[in-house]
Amino acid sequence: MDGSVSYENRFNRSVKDFFRKIFSQNLTRLSNAWFFFNTWMNQLRSVRIREKWMRRGVQSPPFMIVSITARCNLACKGCYSHAQHRNTEQEMSAENLSGVIAEARELGTSVILIAGGEPLVRPEILDITKKYPDIIFPMFTNGIMLSETVISRLGRQKNLIPVISIEGGMLETDVRRGHGVFDNVLRVMGRLGRKNIFYGTSITVTRENFDTVTHHGFISGLIAKRCGVFIYVEYVPAKPGTEDLTLTEPQKIRLRELLAEWDNTYPAQFIGFPGDEELFGGCLASGRGFVHISPEGRLEPCPFAPYSDTNVKDMPLREALASEFLRKIRENHHLLKETRGGCALWENRAWVTSLLK
Ligand code: SF4
Repeated sequence: MDGSVSYENRFNRSVKDFFRKIFSQNLTRLSNAWFFFNTWMNQLRSVRIREKWMRRGVQSPPFMIVSITARCNLACKGCYSHAQHRNTEQEMSAENLSGVIAEARELGTSVILIAGGEPLVRPEILDITKKYPDIIFPMFTNGIMLSETVISRLGRQKNLIPVISIEGGMLETDVRRGHGVFDNVLRVMGRLGRKNIFYGTSITVTRENFDTVTHHGFISGLIAKRCGVFIYVEYVPAKPGTEDLTLTEPQKIRLRELLAEWDNTYPAQFIGFPGDEELFGGCLASGRGFVHISPEGRLEPCPFAPYSDTNVKDMPLREALASEFLRKIRENHHLLKETRGGCALWENRAWVTSLLK
């Protein structure tokens, strides 16, 4: 790791590289190629905007994760969102959501991950994201509500990219997510692929499904359905008593090696979370690389650290990003080295909550 180059520059370079690769990956599909070429250009522009704000001492994260709801049409075992018991009454309105996206765009945030719960229980997200064509919105969905109507809409609105959750094969997926979910997900992936709609998959990697989800057969099967991005999220034991599902040290090391290898062996992009953070000097939460907004509008360091001292319903995003709480975490990111369970902030939650006090 070249210490002389700031983490911001390294992170911005990796974002630019990522979209350049997505563009070249889609060269054979003309409509996608043109879209991703413009996306790549937009990312370059956003980097310059962020650099301008950073020079003025304003924190401007490249990425933002917005959980637009805690509601969901499934009840998966060990669901992280459900484990938080969020109050669904106070969810941000469509105006709130659109407003915070506009503010983030002004700060140069160029990728906004839409999460939940299940985002499609709020179909207004399709109209909200359509208003910001130069921002990429990966939408983390369980795939069940990707109807023909929604799929044809996605075909016309390429900046909203479905990222479908899967746990491995039928056994792993249906045991956690419910009977029939695996077949449903494969059907939806097939439809998206046939319609040349760019999409990805999100895989929660545990000690148990590690061998399945890192197997060539699993990956090539999804690539045959034209899956373009694979996001491997290391399991975080948010539910007490599930610590033995976290990756072992050898598995973590192996996953990093494989992710680097696969980038050069498969026609797709591979992302590890939080594994890749080490490339940028440790935890990227609290606005260093990304920040999380809860369904109620609370600005939190990370989806796995549900703590906050600000709400974007009550103040401009720029002001909330300057919060004392987030600043202290950013300043101490070097203390947040990789942990036993997928998230340094979760592991150090006693320290994190002490900052709030
Ligand atoms: S689909 Fe996601 S939010 Fe819904 S129950 Fe499953 S893990 Fe939780």
